[in-house]
Amino acid sequence: MSAERRTAAELADALAAGETTSVELTRASLDRIAQVDGVVHAFLHVDAESALAQAEASDARRAAGTPASTLDGVPIAVKDVLATEGLPTTCGSRILEGWVPPYDATVVARVKAAGLPILGKTNMDEFAMGSSTEHSAYGPTHNPWDLDRIPGGSGGGSAAAVAAHEAPLALGTDTGGSIRQPGAVTGTVGMKPTYGGVSRYGLVALANSLDQVGPVTRTVLDAALLHEVIGGHDRKDSTSIDQPLPALVEAARQGATGDLSGVRIGVITELAGDGWQPGVMTRFQESVDLMVKAGAEVVEVSCPHFVHALATYYLILPAEASSNLAKFDAMRYGLRVWPEGRPDASAEEVMRATRDAGFGDEVKRRIILGTYALSSGYYDAYYGQAQKVRTLIARDFEAAFERADVLVSPTAPTTAFRLGEKLDDPIAMYLNDLATIPANLAGVPGISVPSGLADEDGLPAGVQVLAPALADDRCYRVGAALEALLLETWGGPLLDRAPGLNGAPA
Ligand code: GLN
Repeated sequence: MSAERRTAAELADALAAGETTSVELTRASLDRIAQVDGVVHAFLHVDAESALAQAEASDARRAAGTPASTLDGVPIAVKDVLATEGLPTTCGSRILEGWVPPYDATVVARVKAAGLPILGKTNMDEFAMGSSTEHSAYGPTHNPWDLDRIPGGSGGGSAAAVAAHEAPLALGTDTGGSIRQPGAVTGTVGMKPTYGGVSRYGLVALANSLDQVGPVTRTVLDAALLHEVIGGHDRKDSTSIDQPLPALVEAARQGATGDLSGVRIGVITELAGDGWQPGVMTRFQESVDLMVKAGAEVVEVSCPHFVHALATYYLILPAEASSNLAKFDAMRYGLRVWPEGRPDASAEEVMRATRDAGFGDEVKRRIILGTYALSSGYYDAYYGQAQKVRTLIARDFEAAFERADVLVSPTAPTTAFRLGEKLDDPIAMYLNDLATIPANLAGVPGISVPSGLADEDGLPAGVQVLAPALADDRCYRVGAALEALLLETWGGPLLDRAPGLNGAPA
């Protein structure tokens, strides 16, 4: 059977009109997963029975005329870093193999309350560390555009599930780009909300001051619809912003008219040049030209401290991660490995054996980096200094947003690389997030929208639209406008042009 290609917004309309049922849609997703996930490996865990039970309950609500939300009945996939009551949550790590949380993350609870059946949990780099999903302890996810290539990371599972039409919607998390970069390399849409705009309660923390949950979708409107379901204040998260969300869906609908008159768009000078794939830059320039045609005013803005963003991030992130991962100590939950031949091993020895077996190389690398950066004598020189540069990056954004309403850049410097290509070169892997990391350091929102296919390799590239904190609606307005303008030039969704998996059924 062919995959369900309608957008979540279209599916919601079809449900409201009584043209389909949630059971039908959920079955279609489960069938597609059964058909293609053997090669894509977007999912770590699929719970068909529970998804269908949720779908039945949704259909009953529709029949009674009491849908829980616009998206009631539209199925969704959830990144395996979010706690799901009764469903395994591994964070892509051996150390959490078999752990079944006794509670739901707030975003999961909200998705359930809104009536979206949860299909399962998606693959990811271990503890969300990576840009390719190759650091998953359960094997990599493959990019539906080319199965020999990476789907981005850390949320490659969510992006691939959406790109391969296994799920109309997914949840991701973005600490340095893990929603936006997978979006760019799979031809999907990914939104990182303002820090504090979406609850982190029940998100297994990588770096608390950088993490945000957000939508992974095929269209900008779908992202706005899902964002309105998961966003807003949560008293269980002390960093959650106690303010209503801006009107995101309205902004996306307004943008979809393709009119950008009066909008000032800032092109970030520092995010171009050496190391940027020419085809990615061509698609980016084309997007900027289209926005100008649609009435936008374009200015060049300089953010001089962005060149230090990567170095800053790789001090702050490992520092926070090393503290967060200390809780995986073989005592409380998850894996416990007894050192061989040591029946009377001490707690420390069990801890050491468990961490050695349970954590992968990248996680160990960052624990060591972070512990070093926080150690006495080095704290001010590394961690303290990084925090100061972080402030300078935030000030670059403030200055830039005085001259422009939104900032734009390519989302990632290259299209999807081959599996294995960068696995042994951590710095090459880290460089993928050059353009996405500044937004996490400053807490501002950003959306990645497909910009087309790079000429060299025919693979998707993305444009990111960044806005000031709390102005997430601007990402949706400009993102939706760009999407509408590009769609016209493509004559149909980009994903329909993917060879192999997504190609039109013969
Ligand atoms: N790729 C980045 C990293 O490895 C970002 C990860 C993320 O956003 N979770 O840290």
